Amino acid sequence: MNAAHSLLADTAPCGAGSELLPHYMLDLRQMLESYLTADQVRAVERSFAVGERAHRGQMRKSGEPYITHPVAVARILAEMHLDAETLQAGILHDTIEDCPGITKESLRAEFGDNVADLVDGVTKLDKVQFATREAATAESFRKMLLAMARDLRVMLIKLADRLHNMRTLEAQSGPSQRRIARETLEVYAPIAQRLGMNKLKSELQELSFKALYPHRHSVIGARIKAMIGNRREIMSKIEAALSARLKEDGLHARVVGRVKSPYSIYRKMLGDHKTFAEVMDVYGLRIIVSKVSQCYQALGTAHAMYKPLDNRFKDYIAIPKANGYQSLHTVLFGPSGAPIEVQIRTDDMDVVAERGVAAHWIYKTESTPANNAQMRAREWLQGLLDSQRQAGSSIEFLEAVKVDLFPDEVYLFTPKGRILALPRNASAIDFAYAVHTNVGDHAVAARVDRQLKPLRTRLVSGQTVEIVTAPSASPQPQWLEFVVSSKARTAIRHYLKQLQHEDAISLGHRMLSRALADIGGALDAIPEEQLHRFLEENRLRRLEELLSDIALGARMPALVARQLWASEGQSAAAPRDTVVRISGAERGVMTFAHCCHPIPGDPIVGFLSAGKGLVVHQTTCPNVVEMRKQPDRIVRVDWEPEVQGDFRTQLKIEVANRPGVLATVAAAIADANSNIENVEYLERDSLSASLLFTIEVRHREHLNDVMRRIRRSDVVQTVQRQSG
Ligand code: MN
Repeated sequence: MNAAHSLLADTAPCGAGSELLPHYMLDLRQMLESYLTADQVRAVERSFAVGERAHRGQMRKSGEPYITHPVAVARILAEMHLDAETLQAGILHDTIEDCPGITKESLRAEFGDNVADLVDGVTKLDKVQFATREAATAESFRKMLLAMARDLRVMLIKLADRLHNMRTLEAQSGPSQRRIARETLEVYAPIAQRLGMNKLKSELQELSFKALYPHRHSVIGARIKAMIGNRREIMSKIEAALSARLKEDGLHARVVGRVKSPYSIYRKMLGDHKTFAEVMDVYGLRIIVSKVSQCYQALGTAHAMYKPLDNRFKDYIAIPKANGYQSLHTVLFGPSGAPIEVQIRTDDMDVVAERGVAAHWIYKTESTPANNAQMRAREWLQGLLDSQRQAGSSIEFLEAVKVDLFPDEVYLFTPKGRILALPRNASAIDFAYAVHTNVGDHAVAARVDRQLKPLRTRLVSGQTVEIVTAPSASPQPQWLEFVVSSKARTAIRHYLKQLQHEDAISLGHRMLSRALADIGGALDAIPEEQLHRFLEENRLRRLEELLSDIALGARMPALVARQLWASEGQSAAAPRDTVVRISGAERGVMTFAHCCHPIPGDPIVGFLSAGKGLVVHQTTCPNVVEMRKQPDRIVRVDWEPEVQGDFRTQLKIEVANRPGVLATVAAAIADANSNIENVEYLERDSLSASLLFTIEVRHREHLNDVMRRIRRSDVVQTVQRQSG
């Protein structure tokens, strides 16, 4: 290496006696020697020499030499037994930013590509600020994601950096403390969790909670202490009894008590609306064995000793969580009546449960990952990269990242036994899209545990799901009301946007043709150059753009027609009576007014609203009177003879106020093959009640049939359609 470029040119030779190293570096060396080779330890020390020189003279807010911070970061990484390059980069992580003499290139010359890229990655990540989850921009998430996808170690260094900054947060001013703590809680802790690094995540959460809510933290902390004191005796009895029994059954197992942390208790109190006593009224135990088969044996022993609670057993060994976590979970009736939550796992699983991707770390770029958590993390990042490419806007991408980072998941099987993890409350349509976008786009129904179910069915863990598809089927706008996964949402929106565009063109075409016909013209009769000049003058790239503008209410068809036709020098002929026909396929670009809910068969009129495009009202709607004052915006419309789809309408129904009335009316509506969208009570006294049903019908005859069936019931006094 060229000495002139060497960052070490005038530092003491590396690997010099330990007397040159300060105590905080000596501690680190001891840790390194326990798992790295002598060469690797020397490499880390060389980074220390460079880092120490670079930061010389700089102080932390606490008054300590700056280098203590990067060394502490490296220690955190060394505790996780990460590789030498990661540690080197950990020590150098602030040099590019803070030290004028050091650049990515000089680091590359001294320490090679990997270390230089890692330091550069962390430096870039430092510039990405989140503040709060709500304010976090798609761009900042995108940068972070790309950095992680390139080399996960960048995130591990960043997390270690954040952990040390949180441990030393007191040196910061009050407002900075709160900003950093909030960002940690809302962005970094979820990332640590997603990477399965539970131990680091918990510490980040506790420190943030303490900084944000010092009072709540200390009150809950004190109550936990008091509670543990009271319980020590009974807990150790249970632990001892369980240990003895496991031993009798020939199992070598460690039984350890678990104590909840203030933040996790606080979250439970908030989330489940429970009191402190209710949250704490649960004991926690962990049983650790050496082999997987022994986990199930230990479970048998535990269940034989104390009765298990129904439906609380979870097998995360057979079906690991999305971040790679594995364990058996069960809840037992304790001797005092209080439930005992038990986790059973092997030593290996225990390490993965604590450290996630960082467990059993062997860093290789291309080869198969060393553990489950690493494999899951790669899949996750790959999925995010895919959705980044697919998402139409950065908002959609942001949604995708957030759903993935803050999950509650269900685990489902394909008929072939593949496991898919989906967010809680996922529907069959989410599952369909998780299998493949094509399956989602053509889904018609689902077989859930062999039973035929509608696509909106919510799925629960353990179900086997098969999607029934039809080539002619296509995504429906209503699906957006019950999908929860980002993949399904993105795919459906993408499809609808496409469709909406096509619908808008077709409707715009009909509207412009009608407007031209009104003044005796026709679209075909306008010469090409004439049309082109018009488009150019109006900065429109294509005729389609003009048509879609018209359909969406951005341009008035009558005005456009007059400009196109008059400029041609044609004289306006006598208006003919033409109308725009509605087939029901224009839903994406047209709305049916909520005041009067028109359905096929009703006389209707369209009103072109700038924001909403074409809004269709019944001609009898009281609001139409006002609209007639803007005749330019009125569009004559009528129904096609065959209209597609279901239309919303409302019925006001007076019934006798008796138990079961609602069910009777609902059954009558269902018998007439109509969907109930909503029911509300308008008035109610001891004798009678007045209900407003929002239902879906195909046309007026269908509505009449629904009303007839409702009237037949003897509890119904009157039925009236509500329109305007
Ligand atoms: Mn730092």
